[in-house]
Amino acid sequence: MTAESAVLAPKPTKQSKPLPAPNSDFYEVYETLDPEELTKVKRLRAFLEAKVAPIITKYWVEDAFPFELLPGMKELGIGGAGMHGYGCAGGSSKLLGFLTMELARVDPSFCTFFGVHDGLAMGSIYIDGSEEQKQKWLPPMARFEKIGCFGLTEPLVGSGASGGLTTTAKREGDTWVLNGEKRWIGNAPWCDVSIIWARDLTDNQVKGFIVENKTTAGFSVEKIQNKISLKVVQNGHITLKDVRVPEANRLQGGNSFRDTARVLKMTRYLVAWMATGCAMGAYETALKYSQERLQFGRPIGSFQLVQDLLARMIANITASQCLITRQAQLHAEGKLTDAHAALAKAFATAKCRETVAWARELLGGNGIVADYKAARFFADAEALYSYEGTFQMQNLIVGKAVTGFGAFV
Ligand SMILES: Cc1cc2nc3c(=O)[nH]c(=O)nc-3n(C[C@H](O)[C@H](O)[C@H](O)COP(=O)(O)OP(=O)(O)OC[C@H]3O[C@@H](n4cnc5c(N)ncnc54)[C@H](O)[C@@H]3O)c2cc1C
Repeated sequence: MTAESAVLAPKPTKQSKPLPAPNSDFYEVYETLDPEELTKVKRLRAFLEAKVAPIITKYWVEDAFPFELLPGMKELGIGGAGMHGYGCAGGSSKLLGFLTMELARVDPSFCTFFGVHDGLAMGSIYIDGSEEQKQKWLPPMARFEKIGCFGLTEPLVGSGASGGLTTTAKREGDTWVLNGEKRWIGNAPWCDVSIIWARDLTDNQVKGFIVENKTTAGFSVEKIQNKISLKVVQNGHITLKDVRVPEANRLQGGNSFRDTARVLKMTRYLVAWMATGCAMGAYETALKYSQERLQFGRPIGSFQLVQDLLARMIANITASQCLITRQAQLHAEGKLTDAHAALAKAFATAKCRETVAWARELLGGNGIVADYKAARFFADAEALYSYEGTFQMQNLIVGKAVTGFGAFV
């Protein structure tokens, strides 16, 4: 008997009407996918439920990354989803959104690994790289043979990255010399390729560099220990000491922070999907528990106050799903602005944070034990809320768009 089954009601032997299976697609947003896209999303869901769900809590508790899952990810052929050519999986940005939501529904950490590799690292090369750079780096990354990370944040510069990077790049002939530190960098302790953003000492503009982690002298990484959120993702503190990078590895289309921001717009778009998936996973867990856990001789899901919590949760999820599906339409029409993506990221992560807290609450004491899953979603939502630009920074972007006044200080 598992710890989980010990506290739940025995399965009823006779049930007049089967209870509805937990389903977080209340407004049938999955029906907006075309049949081919839906097949891909279902295939990913089957993989996640069969291979990831049974093992991921153990990795989360142990602060370890499940390398055993990488061959399966390669086989699914989703590397570079939403990107076209260069061995990438292609498809629409809506498909990429749904795939991201599916990953987070089962595990937000594993989804973040994918988001950092695919969205941030591959995305930087796809958006800001030259033709040669795309041809060289994207195919092995799409096959998950080379894994990437994205180094923007620094120990002393987080929200203020647009104006204040202290990592420097100095050109010496055909070589650039990088010096500085990067903090919080997902996948950095073990990946192959780092996109490092640094300030060019000559023109003071931010530029991006492709650095090969394992073979470049002066590049070192220390794993950040004792996180309480997204524990499966390995975050690193990078030190760059006279790291020499050839001009051929400078992102040729990245000439100022505006080009970095083009990558961030896309990844904020994705964090909104991720937060919605995280809320879906927590809601489905809580709903299932409410159907099985008995108190006062009845399933707790039959109590009015518990139903109120569940109704609030599915309302948050449905509102987020509708918002991000419209976000995908705007992207497809070439109309998605930084403010659109910022609004979606801020709203979906805030609603996710609320939803996972209700899920945790609904599991009572078991809500704080990792084995019951709600605790994992609860803890992971905290990082989604803060990374890729905090709630306040997203609201400042929206505030500037709606008032016409920039309130950044
Ligand atoms: C798990 C995790 C993974 C991450 N992965 C990566 C990664 O792969 N690559 C990468 O480059 N970075 C990564 N980050 C960094 C992340 O993007 C930053 O943590 C985030 O941008 C916030 O920066 P900060 O932590 O330095 O907070 P700070 O900028 O110090 O902010 C602290 C608080 O002050 C508030 N604040 C700051 N300025 C203002 C203002 N002007 N007005 C109002 N409020 C303000 C913030 O909203 C926040 O509440 C990751 C972070 C986490 C936690």
